[in-house]
Amino acid sequence: MEFWVQVHGIPVDYMCKETTIYIGNMLGVVAEVEDPKVDGVLRRPFLRIRVGINITKALPTGFWLAREKSLNLWVYFQYERLPDCYCYNCGIVGHEKKSCKNPTAMAVWDPTKPRYSTGLGVSQVRAITLWVLVAQNKVDGKIKMGKKQRVDNKA
Ligand SMILES: [Zn+2]
Repeated sequence: MEFWVQVHGIPVDYMCKETTIYIGNMLGVVAEVEDPKVDGVLRRPFLRIRVGINITKALPTGFWLAREKSLNLWVYFQYERLPDCYCYNCGIVGHEKKSCKNPTAMAVWDPTKPRYSTGLGVSQVRAITLWVLVAQNKVDGKIKMGKKQRVDNKA
């Protein structure tokens, strides 16, 4: 299933489309990438990608970003328009919490707290005008960028 995923907590210096693609590839199959910058200026405090994710497993909530000479950072995801049949107990799409038979998933950053909460789902944000389509082929380990396409306020 494809989702627009917001990536929060990335240091400003790393906020660019290359980072967005990198994280998108960790999550699943990248469909669209939003360039957070327009004319070199950051337009949002988070990154945004459209990714096809395997929904038979619990949705990833984030990851630890290792940094040299400073503390690791927790980078977290929010999903735009999570389906109504999303389970906040175990994290899987397809049933609601009240009918869940799985154990409660606990947070990575604090094992005493539940991993999933309604904050995981957010409403869709208005698109930044400039979009970058991704070519899926990789050359010399680098991701080759696809052509840029202008989509005027799709949302
Ligand atoms: Zn469940």
